[in-house]
Amino acid sequence: MTSQSSTKLLDELNQVQLAIELIELGARLQVLESEVALNRGRLVRLYKEVAGKSPPKGMLPFSTDWFLTWMPNIHASFFYTIYDRFHNQQGLERMQAFIKAYRMYQEHLRGTGSEEVLALTRAWTLVRFFESDMFQLSTCTSCKLNFVNHAHTPDSDYVCGVCQPPSRAGKPLIKDCEKSVKEAQVSR
Ligand SMILES: [Zn+2]
Repeated sequence: MTSQSSTKLLDELNQVQLAIELIELGARLQVLESEVALNRGRLVRLYKEVAGKSPPKGMLPFSTDWFLTWMPNIHASFFYTIYDRFHNQQGLERMQAFIKAYRMYQEHLRGTGSEEVLALTRAWTLVRFFESDMFQLSTCTSCKLNFVNHAHTPDSDYVCGVCQPPSRAGKPLIKDCEKSVKEAQVSR
């Protein structure tokens, strides 16, 4: 085998590996089509093999509003803070940082017995929104932690959802969220 063809084979194996990891974490076909350099037919076959079913049809959720609602915002801020640390501060390649951050998010949920709010496809959409400059991280003036917010919002008087929760959110839940966000941000 020439070195060129073995490089090509390695590239392809890496792409297959990436696809499998994403499928295992719950990625929709649209995510694979954007991020994995394999043709659609192969991705569909891989999906069926790994997930044991055909990929679901339908559009991806496309709304920035969802990420700004109370509970999703806390989960999104937690996830994005980890991603941001891996990708922008430690220089990890984008998809590698994404998978690592998403695994950490899931581990954290398992550890605290919390429900998964941010499915992988949502997490990916969130990263894309940041990349297209629709979101920024705003620092809460009260707790000093970072939260997902609309881009170009002056955050001089920003107060996060943990510090200013809606009345329907119970106290223990708030404490738990606060702890989650702190854990993610404290080791920066
Ligand atoms: Zn706060």
